[in-house]
Amino acid sequence: MNTEACLYIVATPIGNLDDITLRAVETLKRVDFVAAEDTRHSQRLMNHLGVTVRLMALHEHNEREKSQALVDKVKDGKSIALVSDAGTPLISDPGYFLVKLAREQGVRVVPIPGVSAVVTALSVSGLPSDRFVFEGFLPAKQGAKTKRLDAFLYESRTVIFYESPHRILDTLEVMSEVYGAERYLVVARELTKTFETIKGGSIGRVREWAESDANQQKGEFVLLLEGAVDAPEVSTTEQDKMLTLLMVEMPIKKACKIVSELVGGNKKELYQRALEIQGRVEKKG
Ligand code: SAM
Repeated sequence: MNTEACLYIVATPIGNLDDITLRAVETLKRVDFVAAEDTRHSQRLMNHLGVTVRLMALHEHNEREKSQALVDKVKDGKSIALVSDAGTPLISDPGYFLVKLAREQGVRVVPIPGVSAVVTALSVSGLPSDRFVFEGFLPAKQGAKTKRLDAFLYESRTVIFYESPHRILDTLEVMSEVYGAERYLVVARELTKTFETIKGGSIGRVREWAESDANQQKGEFVLLLEGAVDAPEVSTTEQDKMLTLLMVEMPIKKACKIVSELVGGNKKELYQRALEIQGRVEKKG
């Protein structure tokens, strides 16, 4: 156990209150303050764990304003734990600004790892878990949501999203439009809670299932999209054309990343070709 004052980033349960580590409980008992997203919510957890500690509010609306004061407290020798309402802080939750500030100012930041809905869902989804993309929450507005989903049309890794109950049906509908009703999807709902449900099937099937049972639209959701199997057949000439256009606007590495994401292609090979194209263009110029 550290004796030096630190900022601890403590993971808390996502449903079942027993899903907290011994080290997390010990840390919460020992620190001088707990910075919590919602103090009333976290107070219930502290009562359950038998932890008596002062709670301070740190949420998305005051994080920028309060973080320096918290970092100063650690510099003054006080230890602070950051918790969010559920799971791991900073994962679609506040804390990024605080951690960045603390590290920039040489304050020690210590992880107290535990549960997060993204990894919990992936571990039971049956989808490839060796490579995955976590996208967090989708934009609420239709146009922006479609655009974001479009970006993953040819993504070969498993893509994971967080979703809330009032948007689940709409998101399934937009997914069906963007990826087609046949693409495989897993919905992980109310993980570790009484009504935990893990449902896999084509987007069309999952949509029908959710629409036909209002209970399946309630609670918290993780959506896991199977990666694309067939990347479109794009010729190297077309890739080169895209590279040539993009390289004028951005660094080569970024251009290769975009081409690879849009139409596929090995990034190393694209990079090599981009250098050749650049050489040709420079000679001409
Ligand atoms: N920090 C959390 C984590 O580590 O997973 C995530 C917080 S984010 C504000 C809340 C979202 O996480 C929910 O809308 C849902 O998408 C997902 N989530 C959290 N708990 C969940 C659960 N028990 N079952 C399914 N999804 C959950």
